[in-house]
Amino acid sequence: MALTLYRDKTYKQKAQPGDVVTLVDELLTKAVDVGASDIHFEPTSAELVVKFRLDGLLNVVESLPKTISDNVIARLKVLGGLLTYRNDLPQEGRMEINNGCENVVDRRLSVFPTIYGQRAVVRIFYKNAQLTDLEQVGFSPAIYAALKQTTCANQGVLLVTGPAGSGKSTTLAAVLRHIQKQFPGKSIVTLEDPVEIRLDGVTQVQITPFGPMTFPTALRSLLRQDPQVLMIGEIRDAETAKIVIEAGLTGHLLMSTMHSGSAAAAILRLLEMSIEPYQVTSSISAVLNQRLVRRLCGKCKKQTAAGDCEPVGCDECFGTGFKGRMLIAELVRLDSPLRKAILARTDADEIEKILSNRGHAGMLEDGKRLVADGLTTRDELDKVCGSAGDI
Ligand SMILES: [Zn+2]
Repeated sequence: MALTLYRDKTYKQKAQPGDVVTLVDELLTKAVDVGASDIHFEPTSAELVVKFRLDGLLNVVESLPKTISDNVIARLKVLGGLLTYRNDLPQEGRMEINNGCENVVDRRLSVFPTIYGQRAVVRIFYKNAQLTDLEQVGFSPAIYAALKQTTCANQGVLLVTGPAGSGKSTTLAAVLRHIQKQFPGKSIVTLEDPVEIRLDGVTQVQITPFGPMTFPTALRSLLRQDPQVLMIGEIRDAETAKIVIEAGLTGHLLMSTMHSGSAAAAILRLLEMSIEPYQVTSSISAVLNQRLVRRLCGKCKKQTAAGDCEPVGCDECFGTGFKGRMLIAELVRLDSPLRKAILARTDADEIEKILSNRGHAGMLEDGKRLVADGLTTRDELDKVCGSAGDI
């Protein structure tokens, strides 16, 4: 399936303000067809560039004439329920899901004014119909074993970190399913924004963005309902962090995600959110830091003289040489030297030093198994791990 649907310039020559409704609909549908996670509408001095994010990378799919730029953004704002007459403010909204997008659970729109006009991003959340078992998520045997052990506990906090789109929801869904299988009858509740993966037998609550039910308010009420295992979609603010940590200290097993570049950064971020060091050391069971690396396209990859494989590009992979993604991860459990360092409010460098002294295998190390098996490339690994601290 070619990505460059409109690249024959038909639209470029013909597009009139009147065609915009159809044009926007087609772009939104096309994005879902190819499994894009985001659509970017970027105004430049001469045109409106449309990009799809596929397997984590942005690809230009269309350049629309500047003359219809405002109409396209206005149409998106109508779909997202935003104020079309305010072009000077950042705005955020949700877009109704239309027919033909059955595999989509939510679409979020964000609009931002720039010097060349408004820039819009549509983020698409897919229903993940295929549930993955914990042993099939792709963790190394060591991390898999450590995760299994963490989930056996009756209390504590498992933090999963990484940028948006690094597979955190899939990991947490797999962990919850594992708990469900190992301990049938345990009361499991999730708070998510939005619910991406449906889990039978788990009480899943959807947080309404921009509404009165926020993570902290919902979490406080839920704790009165006596759950044993709680999954909180994301720790975004100090208030949520505080409730999560306290719940993890009082007989609940909690799981949540955080945006941070490394396991050490996640721990330090909790301290910055005014969580006391002793609360961090006594509540956090493990921090799992993960990324997705692109998988070499099985149809066109080529073996090199060194024994690795390299991308080539074919119809199957849009000429990129890659198709699909795989997980790389590192898991940090708190031991005595780490606890001491956190209690002394140390910095990230010191934590990294303690980790390397104890022979901790980082994400790059973990990814080498995939390069050795010819599933991805060293370049891809360096690119993904190189951005570790850059979020
Ligand atoms: Zn290919």
